Amino acid sequence: MTILVTGSAGFIGSCFVRQHLRCSDEPVVSLDALTYAGHLSTLSEVMDTPAHTFVHASIGDVNAVTAIFREHAPRAVVNFAAESHVDRSILGPEAFIQTNVVGTYRLLECARQYWSALPAEQAAKFRFLHVSTDEVYGTLGPGDAPFAETHRYEPNSPYSASKAASDHLVRAWHHTYGLPVLTTNCSNNYGPYHFPEKLIPLCIMNALAGKALPVYGDGQQIRDWLFVEDHTRAIARVLDAGQVGETYNIGGWNEKANLEVVQTLCALLDELRPKAGGGSYADQIQFVTDRPGHDRRYAIDARKIERELGWRPNETFETGLRKTVQWYLDHQDWVRTVTSRTP
Ligand code: NAD
Repeated sequence: MTILVTGSAGFIGSCFVRQHLRCSDEPVVSLDALTYAGHLSTLSEVMDTPAHTFVHASIGDVNAVTAIFREHAPRAVVNFAAESHVDRSILGPEAFIQTNVVGTYRLLECARQYWSALPAEQAAKFRFLHVSTDEVYGTLGPGDAPFAETHRYEPNSPYSASKAASDHLVRAWHHTYGLPVLTTNCSNNYGPYHFPEKLIPLCIMNALAGKALPVYGDGQQIRDWLFVEDHTRAIARVLDAGQVGETYNIGGWNEKANLEVVQTLCALLDELRPKAGGGSYADQIQFVTDRPGHDRRYAIDARKIERELGWRPNETFETGLRKTVQWYLDHQDWVRTVTSRTP
């Protein structure tokens, strides 16, 4: 059999593809539109692997996606493809609607056409796994319980609203047409191959370049952080054993304020790459005007996936962050490649 992975040249999708090919002989056909956030160098470890086929296409390209289903007959789709940066969604929401909403809709329709023509036994085993975010649940107050799967959807940014819309489409394609879907909602990821516009890789690269480390507002926005390989292991587990039609929240039980994250990063850099002229990278921290509508706190209640599927994160924030910082120190060529704009 084969699985189809979309958004495979991005941060989390590429991690999932690498992990799948490491753990299994099953072929992967991977698709990516190679936007600014997707780069073939992110897939370089697996580009020559015979079990991996890369297709340069959008999830919204019905002809290309239909051709993949016809040619590769996947047993599952894992949908990572998305516009993913909140700041960009505030500046230009259109691309988020096109990919996250219209693109997911078209992918669902292609999957449904393919699935509905499968023999009954194969149709029953088919899965459409949609990868989503905790941001669809909105924001929490300091004493509120973490987001459970039953939490009301209250998205506050164009990004989270477009992801919420895609989650609803996936749900509807199950309830209306019977498509065997699974949805995962995960907290903030960090790790290797993260495009250097997001907080952790941006601060590592700015620190090394002697630039300011921008922290929004008072830096007290709280996020739950999960090492990317723990996220992709959770997705693999849900794909294997999740109940069709169910949603699984994935998180690391690691609530940290943004300022604490940046300070921890600086301490690690001070240890692993001390500043030539002495002093701490923390001296480069600069508070900047807060993002409009910035959610104050996200936290994930991951007890369902732990209880029902036996998944737990392997990394603590400390071990995962140390690995991440070391990876960026060792792979500055990758950062230069993906920020130089050629696919
Ligand atoms: P990313 O921006 O690094 O990667 C997204 C990939 O999708 C890129 O390679 C991009 O080229 C590709 N893409 C964009 N539009 C496309 C289209 N129309 N067709 C095909 N490919 C397209 O994002 P990521 O951090 O890897 O996130 C992957 C998924 O996980 C997203 O759906 C995101 O909402 C979700 N998620 C991310 C996080 C996080 O912390 N990064 C947390 C929870 C959920």
